[in-house]
Amino acid sequence: MDLLIATQNRGKLREYRAIVANLDIDVLSLEDVGLGKLDVEETGETFEANAELKAAAYAQASGRLALADDSGLCVDALDGAPGVYSARYAGEGATDADRRAKLLGALKDVPDEQRTAYFMCVIVVFNPEKQTPYVSLGKFTGRIAHEESDGQYGFGYDPIFIPDGYDVTLADIEPDEKNRISHRALAAQQMRPVLERLAKGV
Ligand code: IMP
Repeated sequence: MDLLIATQNRGKLREYRAIVANLDIDVLSLEDVGLGKLDVEETGETFEANAELKAAAYAQASGRLALADDSGLCVDALDGAPGVYSARYAGEGATDADRRAKLLGALKDVPDEQRTAYFMCVIVVFNPEKQTPYVSLGKFTGRIAHEESDGQYGFGYDPIFIPDGYDVTLADIEPDEKNRISHRALAAQQMRPVLERLAKGV
């Protein structure tokens, strides 16, 4: 069975390849099927809706089973913001550093015990023949630091996110370790039994 991984992020592609290793599944990249980035508008109000929009668009365009994900950071003191707007939190053209600065500013007077937050990842595998989505979720809890770490790892909000059970941010945690505990890893583990069934054709 072929599975198209609908991402342009090489890191994500590598992670997903590792997850389906040992299953009877051939992982294909967008490059493998001659597809570029599709212009999918993420109009959904939930991670699930946006992941499904992407997975369905790539499944339709390629005629193959396609996997897409959507993720973001939800801060309790901000009623779940930036949430599905994590990538767009500081407007068009802003950088990761701009988004982190905006978030730290929004939490300026918020005390430690109210700085709880979580990363969420939703994965959708879409079957174009049956028009069926298969969905899995991963939640990664922690809190927002008072200032940015100068740690060298990760991306996005990693330098200001301290996972539960740690006293350093994700930017200070080696990638192998992050990939074992992250929202993306958890969601991918949940999807594995579904992929096992699909690979067996049941
Ligand atoms: P997307 O799922 O690739 O669209 O990511 C949405 C946004 O959420 C990214 O631009 C990041 O800002 C943020 N994000 C998602 N996952 C992570 C993570 O593991 N670390 C840091 N930021 C993340």
